[in-house]
Amino acid sequence: MSTFDLLVVGSGGGPSEINLSGYLLKAHESSWTDGIVGIEAGSGLGALSRILQDKPDLFGSTTAVQIYSYLRSYLITHAHLDHVMSLVLMAGSVEGPRKSIRGTRQCLEDLQTVFKPSRIWPNLASWNPNDSDHLYLYDPLPDDLVTYTPLHGALSVRTLPLSHGPDYKSAAFFIRHGSGSHARELLFMGDVGPDALSADPCTAAVWRAAAPKIPHTLDALFIECSWPLGHAEDKLYGHLSPEHLVVELENLATAVVECRSGPPDARAASGSSGPSANVKPIENASSSSRKRAFSIVSPERKRQRRAQDTVDLHNALAGLQVFIIHCKEDMEGKYDRPMCEVITEQLRRLVDEKGLGATILAAQQGSLIHI
Ligand SMILES: [Zn+2]
Ligand SMILES: [Zn+2]
Repeated sequence: MSTFDLLVVGSGGGPSEINLSGYLLKAHESSWTDGIVGIEAGSGLGALSRILQDKPDLFGSTTAVQIYSYLRSYLITHAHLDHVMSLVLMAGSVEGPRKSIRGTRQCLEDLQTVFKPSRIWPNLASWNPNDSDHLYLYDPLPDDLVTYTPLHGALSVRTLPLSHGPDYKSAAFFIRHGSGSHARELLFMGDVGPDALSADPCTAAVWRAAAPKIPHTLDALFIECSWPLGHAEDKLYGHLSPEHLVVELENLATAVVECRSGPPDARAASGSSGPSANVKPIENASSSSRKRAFSIVSPERKRQRRAQDTVDLHNALAGLQVFIIHCKEDMEGKYDRPMCEVITEQLRRLVDEKGLGATILAAQQGSLIHI
């Protein structure tokens, strides 16, 4: 029995503008006309129109413009152009109720720089709930890392930060349907780099929050893998490649096993439930490498390595579907297939070798995913 319906309007990581991050979400039991939550807004109207040419029955006879008029709020992980472009372009054209833009305050303030001076685009967004002249309402999510904020209908969201390169934060969204023991969730992660290379590793805290819910409450994870196997570590630019993503999934598997094998009190005593270490870049004059500032092994990473040496991760992620998103296009013509297929296959092989038990899938543009 499904809980969520999610349409992939776009799932690529650029640079092509026709397949950028953009997803439409609703509760399975409601209809699209009851209201839609957009997750990211890189590609939008144009991509959906093209999808509907291939799949005209996706929404009955409804057009792409009508579908976007049903949208009630956007959830935005960070304000990079490949995640907000269509929202900006549609601001003067789409009808329907006023739409809230939900994200961290920093994300909304970053987005405001596009609208505010009315030089890049006319200012069609405001912070005032009573200002219906502006299509968009900036509605920041709480930064307490705990609260589930109502989104629309039965859907609510909890936000945790992610590190997306030096001094830049993206976000992870735990999107929940319902409440109490019947609640179900999906985890959508914005652009993110490896914790092991980050001066401020944040992903470990997301894994600790997710672990107790896998797989019964939470069985779908959307996570980026921008680059293929073998991509140079100093050219990740705050993104993941399969060899780093499999380490992250091992960290998640470790958190799941730890969670199943002991009471939270014991884990708290061993330090595994504390906030992630805020490690400052090291200043090591003896190293001339570009990686220097980030080639640190944080206390969090050391703890994860110790834990992975001692726990059996076999099938720890059984029942979890991992949808790969944000694959960057092959600009050199090196591959004869779409990069989302290449990267998903590379990751699947690594995850299978480790026996983690997760199902690795590509979130293909145009697909309607039932979760
Ligand atoms: Zn980004
Ligand atoms: Zn991006």
